[in-house]
Amino acid sequence: MVELKQLVQHCNDYLQISAIDDYCPNGLQVDAGVSQINSIVTGVTASQALIDAATAHGADLLLVHHGYFWKGESMPLTGIKGQRIRSLFESSISLMAYHLPLDMHPELGNNRQLATRLGFDDAAPAESGDGHVWVAELPVPESVGQIAARISGGLGREPLHLPGGTEQIRRVGWCTGAAEGYIVTAADLGLDAFISGEVSEQTTHLAQELGVHYFAAGHHATEKFGVAALGEYLASKFGVEHRFVDVPNPV
Ligand SMILES: [Zn+2]
Repeated sequence: MVELKQLVQHCNDYLQISAIDDYCPNGLQVDAGVSQINSIVTGVTASQALIDAATAHGADLLLVHHGYFWKGESMPLTGIKGQRIRSLFESSISLMAYHLPLDMHPELGNNRQLATRLGFDDAAPAESGDGHVWVAELPVPESVGQIAARISGGLGREPLHLPGGTEQIRRVGWCTGAAEGYIVTAADLGLDAFISGEVSEQTTHLAQELGVHYFAAGHHATEKFGVAALGEYLASKFGVEHRFVDVPNPV
């Protein structure tokens, strides 16, 4: 059991939220009024399905990567947002969310965790740019098929490959989520291939014209591991129950 206040403070410090500009508030987003936390459910997105699963598991806290209150969205607590927040209060479940700080964290972050899943050793953020693109140099060059096999083996789903560039891939980069636009940064960094979650129509043309292979591996699929790792970390640090709930999402 841990005090909610202590848990929030620890996560905020550990994930260095004050050092990162974001499109949403990071940390405690909904305080349902329960001060002691026994049981945490983690998941990618605070959808109704995830809240219902947290309720069924008797959680006191829902911890997610995609929370609420995004820049530019309508402010009133009505419609879907009102319903979700009403459900949290009815079930006495507080909500914590970490977006960019959980993408970027050097140990628990989505980009680090994806590297581990895909078997990219010596992975690190690119030295130039804004720190969102991670890179690895493969010890032996690999074919497009070998990179695709790493992705399908690590994530349990086939990536969409958009061809561009050389047959043999030596330098590979990635950024989880909806970061297909960073293929331009990947080209600037001289990478042979770039992996992200989502894809746009124009990505096909960019891959060909920039000469960088692109792999869309799934937004949800590439962002499951950070929040699950954070939940495991909190369970061992504070002796609370933790369960990661995977609400399937093909995107
Ligand atoms: Zn995301």
